[in-house]
Amino acid sequence: MSDEPVTQQPNNNEDEPSASAIFVELMRQAAAKATPKSSDAEPDGSTTAPSLPAAAEAEPSLAPVEAPHQIRRVRRRLALRRPHPSSMAGGFLGTIFVVVVSTALVATLLMFFVNPEFLNPAVVKGLQLDRDEIIAGIEAQRPTPVQTPQWLRRIGIISGHRGLGTNLNRDPGAVCYDAYKQPYLEEETINFAVSRRVVANLEALNFTVDMLDEFDPRLDDYRADALLSIHANSCIDFGEIVSGYIVSKSDARPDVGADVLLRECIALNYGAHIPLERSFNETEDMINNHAWRKIHPLTPGVILEMGFMLADQEILTTQQDLLAHAITMGILCYIENAGLSFGLPPTGERSADYLVPILATPTPIFGR
Ligand SMILES: [Zn+2]
Repeated sequence: MSDEPVTQQPNNNEDEPSASAIFVELMRQAAAKATPKSSDAEPDGSTTAPSLPAAAEAEPSLAPVEAPHQIRRVRRRLALRRPHPSSMAGGFLGTIFVVVVSTALVATLLMFFVNPEFLNPAVVKGLQLDRDEIIAGIEAQRPTPVQTPQWLRRIGIISGHRGLGTNLNRDPGAVCYDAYKQPYLEEETINFAVSRRVVANLEALNFTVDMLDEFDPRLDDYRADALLSIHANSCIDFGEIVSGYIVSKSDARPDVGADVLLRECIALNYGAHIPLERSFNETEDMINNHAWRKIHPLTPGVILEMGFMLADQEILTTQQDLLAHAITMGILCYIENAGLSFGLPPTGERSADYLVPILATPTPIFGR
């Protein structure tokens, strides 16, 4: 760029065309340009163009010379703001932070691989209880000097298979088929016919009663003095007479206490009124019923299979008032004696002529 104007100058003079002299002059001019002040280079009109970038470069280099303290102060402030990587405390806190964050991440990820069914539902429910809730539950079962009015007592009746099933379709439960493979009797119909009679009986005794569907949303954390799920058993022809009623509690509940008393009250009074044998052929669907996983842990719950739909069909379809009466007596037995099973004094209540089971363990204190 700058060669052309410089080489033209010596050509015009023609006095000293020495190459070394030209080189010296070039070096001198370059040295003059390199110095901060551009005044030396100005006499040559050709140097105006190269001097522009030189001036631009000179400007920032002026700043540190004029105000070094300001710059230094700013830089020091920046340095302070930046965390010192080699600081002991900083390194320690950083490590703790990484450990906490990665632990939380790993724990969250692992949660996805834990099958909820793997955990005992009773344990899960128990963990959800706090101390006050447990105490409140025990206090609620303690009889008060003044008799508890019946309308304060809440009883839940699940009409087996009523409402929509898990697949949101109607679930008839067990079904009986005739010789032409046509259905002629559904379990859901029998269950509801008996359940509504039981509900009517209990309401006539001034109880607060909830008629619940099989998968009733109210079952979540359901709280009541007692919950009974009413069912009828299979209509399959087993090739032999399969008969009898079954009463079952949750397998996750203890083998002493409220659930056992409710089960034995229902079984004893049902057997006293209905001419059927008691069967102990409990199925997984009874001992691990979906309802047991939903209801509140202090709500006693049992399932009753009233009889088999083939061998016991006549009783199930023609004796529904009697079935309901037997069940009502069983519930009354439990409600009016629940306190006794916890070693508490008798309430003196006896609203009907029901039977009370004598349980082997724990030794109940029966006042009469
Ligand atoms: Zn059923």
